[in-house]
This record gives sequence, structure tokens and C-alpha cells, in this order.
Amino acid sequence: MGKALIIGAGGVASVCIHKCCQNPDVFEEICIASRTKSKCDALKEKLDGGKTKISTAQVNADNVDELIALINSFKPDVVVNLALPYQDLTIMDACLATKVNYVDTANYEPLDTAKFEYKWQWAYRERFEKAGITALLGSGFDPGVTGVFSAYAMKHQFDEINYIDILDCNAGDHGYPFATNFNPEINIREVSAKGSYIEDGKWVETEPMEIKRVYNFPEIGEKDMYLLHHEELESLALNIKGIKRIRFFMTFGQSYLTHLKCLENVGMTSIVPIEFEGKQIVPLQFLKAVLPDPASLGPRTVGKTNIGCIFIGKKDGKDKTYYLYNVCDHQECYKEVGSQAISYTTGVPAMIGAAMLLTGKWNKPGVHNIEEFDPDPFMEELNRFGLPWKESFDPELVD
Ligand code: NDP
Repeated sequence: MGKALIIGAGGVASVCIHKCCQNPDVFEEICIASRTKSKCDALKEKLDGGKTKISTAQVNADNVDELIALINSFKPDVVVNLALPYQDLTIMDACLATKVNYVDTANYEPLDTAKFEYKWQWAYRERFEKAGITALLGSGFDPGVTGVFSAYAMKHQFDEINYIDILDCNAGDHGYPFATNFNPEINIREVSAKGSYIEDGKWVETEPMEIKRVYNFPEIGEKDMYLLHHEELESLALNIKGIKRIRFFMTFGQSYLTHLKCLENVGMTSIVPIEFEGKQIVPLQFLKAVLPDPASLGPRTVGKTNIGCIFIGKKDGKDKTYYLYNVCDHQECYKEVGSQAISYTTGVPAMIGAAMLLTGKWNKPGVHNIEEFDPDPFMEELNRFGLPWKESFDPELVD
């Protein structure tokens, strides 16, 4: 059906590429391009021989001209950005210049401020519309499937949704005292930032990890979870009718939190450059270099993830609650594609989002968050490609 250029060759990209190769009628040809070409070649070597034709390339995705040259030579129908949030705008610029559709899994973040906002990417709306191309923002799990779940709940279960709680539980154990499940720099920037949620149209800010709840997750059990700022709150509060409050909670174990506090206290999580032996270094980037590579956690992580959304609203004048979630097993993911469940739960929806654009099931020129599209074909593909969803009409609620 079409050609996809996948940028990045890390944990999420690896899963997405495996999944593209499981869906060769849609992904006839892919090019894997990243900063370190050897990682792209290693993936090609592992997956070559199937129906999807694979090529590789070296690219610095901070450089728009390099990206344009690569797009012009490969001529993809869609570019899937699985590098880091810092590259979102340069890749969008290259897509605009070449009139190619765009997909990502995380919103743009400037290197020097850990600030997650859609304003930079939403500013491209008119230009994408005029160019007749679609940018699909946030096609991972959260953001991503959480937005699709919200659109599905709105379409099939509610007349209005007043409250959404997004719950992200990772009960996986990798056996290290401290490691992050995806890019450590991005992960630590996210969890050490102030928390926030939206109530009555306004952001309410909290101290980092100030709000804690205990939740009994289906198929996992009781876990401590903490309120975090998360990017999809911003778009869902605008796109889902009737929202009064929307919050995001993520589980953390005590060992992770104690290590994080200590690293923060000694200044290792700072993103402000310091001088070290005549060289400028960013403490957080140095910390990333000494932590385990998330891609290496796959073989040693056991346990499950449970990520989903609890909706409270009204249907036919009556109050209603509804919980949609997915449970994923780290070892099952590793057996299938050689990665743990965090990369898996992000890489599968990235492939599905790209497939929605390639098949023309989703086609809406402009820049759009995932909940703005028809959720039904995406929900079907989640079941087909390894992230089956479950529903409950009587879930435990978060106070
Ligand atoms: P990794 O660090 O494992 O991979 C990032 C990849 O991007 C690496 O291959 C890296 O190259 C490449 N890269 C970085 N900078 C450049 C550049 N300038 N030019 C070209 N390539 C570059 O990260 P993950 O796979 O864990 O995460 C990928 C994305 O997914 C991130 O944006 C993350 O925020 C997002 N994410 C989204 C989630 C969701 O649910 N929505 C959940 C988890 C992650 P090199 O190998 O040389 O370092």
C-alpha cells in the first residue's frame, strides 16, 4: 500500500519496525534512518527476508536540509518520527517542504526547558492544511491510545464526559535499583517536573509527586501512583465534550523515588549545563550515559503493565462510569519482538497510526491530535496487533 520513513532506531522504533513487518500489505517498503546507522542496519538484518522491503540511512534529524534530501530520495508516503521530542519541529519542517504526512509519539520540547506543550506544533496547523498533508500528533500509548480510548468512549458510551483519570501502571521489575523504561533523559525530565491537572478549564499546578493515591489495578493489584503533568491533558481537555477535570497518574516504586530524590538533591537531574574539566556538560545527559540502556532491560523485565482511562459522565441523562485499559506482559513482548512492554505499548500504536494514514482511513489535512480521528479502525487494529483492550462498567474510582 505504501512507503514509510521511520526516523530513530531506539526502543520504540525497534518495536514499530517489527510491527510494520507484520503488516506488509500496508507497509510495502520502509526506510529506517537514524543518527547511528549501525543500529538501523542491525534492525534490517534481523527483519530482512519478509515481504516488507527494508532500507537504511544515516540522518541527523536536527538538520532540515538533510531530512529533505532523504525524503526526496526515498519518497515516503508517511514519516514516522521515533527520534526524540527535540526533533519534532525539524521533521515537521521537512515534511512541509516535501508534502509528506507526519506521525509522532511525543510533543515538541525545547532542549533548554522541560516544558511539554502543543503550542509549537499546533502553530503548523494552517501550513499543513494548505499543503494538503496530515500531521498525527501523539500516536504512542500515552499520549496515543489514551486519546483513542477517549474518542471511543465519547463516540459509543457517553453523551458527555465530565471526568477522565488516566492511569499508567508499570508493575515490571528489571532487577536494577534504578533504571528508566524509556529514554532516561526524557523520562527524568517528565517525572521531576511539577505535576498539574486541568479543572474547569484551568491548569492546577502541584509540587512534583505531591498527590499520591493507591489503586488496585486489574490483573496487577495495589500500587502507589502519583499525579504527573502529561501532554495529552492539554489536547483532551479541548477535544472531549463536557470535560470538568482531567488528571494523569503514574505508578512508581519506592526504590525509584528514593534514587530520583537523591539524584535531584545532588544536582544530577539538572538540564542546566555546567563546566567539567574544561568542557560544558549537562548533568542529566551525563546521568543518561551511566544508566542502563532501556533497550537492554527487555530480557530481565518481568511483570505487567496496565494503562487505561476511567471516564465519568452522562448517557441518556444518567450518570455513568467506564474504564478502558490494556494489560501487557513484559516477557510476552520480549518473546515476540525482543523489547520490554514500555517500548511495545508505544511502538505498536506508532505503527497503527502510520497505517491509518497510509490506508487513507484517517485523512484530515492539518495538524491533529489522535482523539480528533474516528477511533473505531484504530481500536480494531489494537486487538489485531498485540494490545487488546478490556472494559469495565463498574471500576474502582480514584478520589
Ligand atoms: P531511544 O533513546 O531509545 O531512541 C531514540 C532514537 O532516536 C535513537 O535511535 C537515537 O539515535 C535517535 N536520535 C536521537 N537524536 C537524533 C537526531 N538528532 N537525529 C537522528 N536520530 C536521532 O528513545 P525511545 O525509543 O525510548 O523513545 C522514542 C520516542 O518515543 C521519544 O520521543 C519518547 O518521548 C517517545 N515515547 C512516547 C511514549 C508514549 O506513550 N507516547 C512512551 C515512551 C516513549 P542514537 O541511537 O544515535 O542515540
